[in-house]
Amino acid sequence: MSRNKLIVQKYGGSSIGNIGRIKKVAQRVYSYWKRGAKLVVVVSAMGDTTDKLIHLAEKINPCPSERELDMLLSTGEQISSALLAMALHKKGIPAVSFTGPQVGIITDKFHTQAKILKIEAERIKSALKEGKVVVVAGFQGQTTEREIATLGRGGSDLSAVALAGALKANLCEIYTDVEGIYTADPRIVKKAKKLSCISFDEMLELASRGAQVMQTRAVEVAKKYNIKLVVRSSFSNKEGTIIMRERPLIEEPVVRGITLTEKEAKITICKVPDKPGMAAKIFEELSSKNINIDMIVQNVSHQRITDISFTIEKSQAPKALEATKKVVKNIGAGSVLYDEDVAKVSIVGIGMKAHSGVAYKMFKALARAKINIEMISTSEISISCVVRKKQGKLAVKALHKAFNL
Ligand code: ASP
Ligand code: MG
Repeated sequence: MSRNKLIVQKYGGSSIGNIGRIKKVAQRVYSYWKRGAKLVVVVSAMGDTTDKLIHLAEKINPCPSERELDMLLSTGEQISSALLAMALHKKGIPAVSFTGPQVGIITDKFHTQAKILKIEAERIKSALKEGKVVVVAGFQGQTTEREIATLGRGGSDLSAVALAGALKANLCEIYTDVEGIYTADPRIVKKAKKLSCISFDEMLELASRGAQVMQTRAVEVAKKYNIKLVVRSSFSNKEGTIIMRERPLIEEPVVRGITLTEKEAKITICKVPDKPGMAAKIFEELSSKNINIDMIVQNVSHQRITDISFTIEKSQAPKALEATKKVVKNIGAGSVLYDEDVAKVSIVGIGMKAHSGVAYKMFKALARAKINIEMISTSEISISCVVRKKQGKLAVKALHKAFNL
């Protein structure tokens, strides 16, 4: 069945967390290889190696140079790729490991958050032609100035999807420690169900709103190149969740999944003069520092003064606060408030497009659970609410029940 098919597989940190697990992965790769598949295997760093490396760096300098951070972080994936290649050799499989730069993954110059500009895949292609299984260190590439750059946390997914696109692979399999995409995090909602398939758009919303199974940018790229994608567990042989372009909309449940994220923080700028150009100035400064803004709320203005709140990733808080304080001075606004004790719950589903009353149902369910909503944002197929952090899990449970998932 897989004869001559080109398959890109990606194994996450937990799937290769120790030597035993690396051997298990080698066994799975072997079973595909034996059936004649051509394989490119992208690996993350073992277990929580990346976190540990970041911790090491911060012990030396709380604000390490991003170039050096990339030098350090990229080593995690280099270790796991070499070890997997050795495990494959042990099974008699011709395999070769490469770093991102070695296989021509060219990125922009934004260290720790680099975007892939192009992939010069000749080296992989010729290794595949020689009959080798190609193991690639995920999460990394090389800038046009020949510096090593990493692709943002969870970036091995992006490496895999981008390689699948560049190589025109038949399939891209993302192996992780859960069996697929669920209606909610099974650790929070015991009755959460695995979805057999889901659309790119839904997956994109779920990923960007806290479902930790796949990196958001990777889903974006998969959608753009219409890559056949499966998320499944490396610990079982169960079929995972297929992610594809469109699903039939007939009898569609309105909400497909619920997510929670505690990774964001809220910044409020008080007493912003309510006149043209203020928001532009604030967000210009933030974007020039490459800070991603998620939700934005501007209050009704009283006496031509207003408050603006927005959410950002906590990891970007120091940079964001610095930028915000600078702008506040320039535009003559009041104080800056920082709040980490927030959580964001979201409901996601394509069915929302065709139904009314979804927001009402969400707000009612939260009200019944005595949860106060602090910010709201909507897209065509999702609604998100910021609530107090300690009520986040309760909110997920209440919504899972209310929408009958
Ligand atoms: N090891 C990197 C991280 O933890 C990349 C990845 O796992 O995809 O973010
Ligand atoms: Mg990881």
